[in-house]
Amino acid sequence: MTKAPVLKNDCFALPPGVHWTPVDEALSMLRERLHCIVPAQETPLADLAGRILAKDVVAERAHPPLPNSAVDGYGFHGALAPGEHRLPLVKGRAAAGGPFDGKVPAGNAIRVLTGAPLPDGVTTIALQEDVSVEDGDIHLRGPLKEGANARSAGEDMQVGQSILPKGRRITPADIGTMASVGVAAASAYRKLRVAIISTGDELVPPDVQAKDGQIFDANRPMLSALIRAWGFEVIDFGIQPDNAEQVQRTLSDAATAADVILTSGGASAGDEDHVSAALNSTGSMALWRVAIKPGRPLALGIWNGTPVFGLPGNPVAAFVCTLVFGRPAMLQMAGASFQNPTGMMVPAAFEKAKKNGRREYLRARLGKAGAEVFPSEGSGRISGLTWANGLVELPDEAVDVTHGTLVKYIPFSEFGI
Ligand code: AMP
Ligand code: MG
Repeated sequence: MTKAPVLKNDCFALPPGVHWTPVDEALSMLRERLHCIVPAQETPLADLAGRILAKDVVAERAHPPLPNSAVDGYGFHGALAPGEHRLPLVKGRAAAGGPFDGKVPAGNAIRVLTGAPLPDGVTTIALQEDVSVEDGDIHLRGPLKEGANARSAGEDMQVGQSILPKGRRITPADIGTMASVGVAAASAYRKLRVAIISTGDELVPPDVQAKDGQIFDANRPMLSALIRAWGFEVIDFGIQPDNAEQVQRTLSDAATAADVILTSGGASAGDEDHVSAALNSTGSMALWRVAIKPGRPLALGIWNGTPVFGLPGNPVAAFVCTLVFGRPAMLQMAGASFQNPTGMMVPAAFEKAKKNGRREYLRARLGKAGAEVFPSEGSGRISGLTWANGLVELPDEAVDVTHGTLVKYIPFSEFGI
């Protein structure tokens, strides 16, 4: 395993005098200052799905390795001119896994099955549906181009060719691509270990009877599900009360066990905001007031060498901030290339006069007339996240959205969920 360098204590520091940081600026700061913090390890193919490549993957063999037939049919040399043709059949056949060893003389044909290496002397295959066999000859009509229905060696991938880049998260398709060129293992980063902590005296897990004044902890199960969907490992540090010492003790335990710590709640600058208080005591704390709705300040800092993302407690804000900031930041720390969703411009099926000064993310889904948004923007309405299939991203500037205005829609799938 190769060791990964640690992050510096001041990696989240903000330029002096900054009050509201635009989303793009916040993202470029994360991009510039974070780097991969997990070691690489040689990983067998069976364990590579969802993992991030630490090195380019190179084809160990050409694909296909030999020229071969794309169809069941009859092979011969060269092209066929327009009109009727009759070619004598050579004895034997070429099949996948059962090649024909002899040579097929020019003007003769041979039975060939899909995937069979082309026999010596064969460059072209006629589909069996287009051929009739009579008295040891085949009859067929031209024209047929030389090379028809044949695949050439290496036409898909050549030996030594780089087929997957470092930083890519391996998909099921990639597994097939690697296997087809004989790659049985690759160097991948160890899964990022993410500690998840909920904070708040009011919180109880959803499997207990809640008393008056208590609310169910929605963030920890939700964030855990996000983290797993992104291919990282969750280490659950439960619900922590609004108690400075206990929050600090938990941060220390989490810093030992995990590569990154995600907390929710207690991230502002109030009396019971113990995550930001704890980070403040380390001198590494930066309270990022990002110009984003829904959002609250993000408390970013380093606890015992481990980066901490202090998310707002409000579940909708926690969710959106994790998609917009947490995901690219964690992907970068996990060794992946920084990724921002592209989104697509679609007509709005809603109206909204948006003020200047902060970016807004609306819970949205695509309908026949375009992007619809959840009727309430209330950030307490978590059911809107379930209603939605994605987010509409409205720019930092003022916009007057009416029906048909093009707006940016980002499907949740672009966030990897
Ligand atoms: P805080 O950021 O701690 O001030 O919390 C802001 C709001 O989010 C409060 O109404 C909290 O009760 C609520 N909240 C905090 N953490 C969670 C959680 N894990 N699940 C659901 N709601 C929460
Ligand atoms: Mg709280």
